Amino acid sequence: MTDAKKTVMPAYVVDKAEGASRLADLQKNLRAEREEAALKALPTPCYVVDEAKLLNNLRLLQHVQCESGAHILLAQKCFSMFRLYPLMGEYLAGTTASGIYEARLGHEEMGKENHVFAPAFKEQDMQELVQICDHIIFNSFAQFEKHKAVCAQAGVSVGIRVNPECSTQEGEHAIYDPCAYGSRLGVTLANFPQVLPPEIEGLHFHTLCEQNADDLLTTWKAFEAKFSKYFAQLKWLNLGGGHHITRSDYDVEALIDLVKYIRATYHVEVYLEPGEAVALNAGYLVSEVLDIVHNGLDILILDASAACHMPDVLEMPYRPTLRDGYEADEKQYKYRLSSMTCLAGDVIGDYSFDKEIKVGDKLIFEDMAIYSMVKNNTFNGIPLPDIVLLHKDGTTELVRRFGYEDFKGRLS
Ligand SMILES: *Cc1c(COP(=O)(O)O)cnc(C)c1O
Repeated sequence: MTDAKKTVMPAYVVDKAEGASRLADLQKNLRAEREEAALKALPTPCYVVDEAKLLNNLRLLQHVQCESGAHILLAQKCFSMFRLYPLMGEYLAGTTASGIYEARLGHEEMGKENHVFAPAFKEQDMQELVQICDHIIFNSFAQFEKHKAVCAQAGVSVGIRVNPECSTQEGEHAIYDPCAYGSRLGVTLANFPQVLPPEIEGLHFHTLCEQNADDLLTTWKAFEAKFSKYFAQLKWLNLGGGHHITRSDYDVEALIDLVKYIRATYHVEVYLEPGEAVALNAGYLVSEVLDIVHNGLDILILDASAACHMPDVLEMPYRPTLRDGYEADEKQYKYRLSSMTCLAGDVIGDYSFDKEIKVGDKLIFEDMAIYSMVKNNTFNGIPLPDIVLLHKDGTTELVRRFGYEDFKGRLS
């Protein structure tokens, strides 16, 4: 053996700490491989919610609550997997609803603080809402006048949604901008009375969508400049949703500082009601390749559909992240991903892969817990995906399977 050879030690014994971190990496990879195999073994299509990832999000939201004193509510319109409401309720202050059924679900399944906002409320719904909601937020002073007596009788805290007329979305998601010209959402300053009716205890704004704390700060400043003259009589301010708190680049400290400033300056409770941030990147949609057809390019027919199972792909629109899938022209094997429906435009997007895709392969779409199950439909009589829970220990549990009766039950 030469001297040189003697001194070259195998990398894994060079340093204990490095060895430990390599071992941790190996274990992580092994776990990821096992998890992926478990996902690909599931009957498709199915939504899988990843409990470990959801818990990571919940812990960060709890940290924001602890540090800032804010109350964080789950916006159910984004993610209503009520099987997980008891778990989410361990970390969050409660739920918020867009109408009667969500309000009922939050009350039944989480049973903590329960808030509701809607552009208008029907009288018969209000009778029930005042029994199950703590806060009711109105979209006009006319709605407030109409329902104030029943709210007062039940002891519900009432608020008004305002339109701070401060667009921060730069036309990126125009259909998600409640500050756009002609928006029906929120009362503008011009439509506010000189003096707020004494029953009003809170103001609410919701203008963000997948945004960071800098846009919240911009919006807050516009809101404060216009509406702080009304704050003296208020008990709470609700800063809505659209805060992408659990995204890796989100400025959590800036959010905490803002909430602390608001509470200290105006002596009000502060509410945040994120939807996406709660279950961001905490779920998948697993699908199977049923056929491959050719017309100019290779087209995969999947048992998952953009139109039926991920409507935001067409509505927002956006191209979902696909595990092991790349930009259309990045890799050798390129495909258009499409579905079983009759809609020509039911296209998920163009992707490329390292290897050829075959009939029977399973594909995993990322970030499919949010705005998926709550928006899906049975157009074309396409079956709804199963709902599966991926537990912390890597095992999977079928939470709900839908059938023909779910399709037929909505028709007559
Ligand atoms: C949609 C909505 C939310 C949640 O928004 P995300 O973008 O999912 O965080 C919160 N409050 C109101 C009033 C909403 O309409």
